[in-house]
Amino acid sequence: MSEPTWLVLRCHHCGQCSGHRFQKGRCPHCGQPITRETELVKQVPSSADLHIEVALANTPEALRDELKSRLVAQNLNSSESETPSARRVFQSLRDLANTTGMLSRNDVESILKKKGLDMPVEAVMEQAENEGLVLRTADGHWMFLE
Ligand SMILES: [Zn+2]
Repeated sequence: MSEPTWLVLRCHHCGQCSGHRFQKGRCPHCGQPITRETELVKQVPSSADLHIEVALANTPEALRDELKSRLVAQNLNSSESETPSARRVFQSLRDLANTTGMLSRNDVESILKKKGLDMPVEAVMEQAENEGLVLRTADGHWMFLE
């Protein structure tokens, strides 16, 4: 099977868009459940473009063109350079989460440190949340959704 289609869904509780594999789960912004009634904004053929489409969907129409060219340029840069991106950290986070199911702030911090990455935990996990990979729980942990 080729890479599954990704969905950009707009939560009708908070109006924010997020990326999902399936039309289920929870909104990473407000935690409300995703249902069949949740608005499907767009289908994205590759996870590489998902965060761009989600960011665009969350941007007022008038600003989209500018944002798009900026994000596309960023995406090209990050895939060509050797700079570690948040995306590469996700695999390590997922590996760790496989054993515990949950991630704490300390877990994320130690992975970033181990990889020699000077990235704020918030920024990394926010991207993971936006891509629908994790859900922030009430006590400040993250739960992997896949
Ligand atoms: Zn929501």
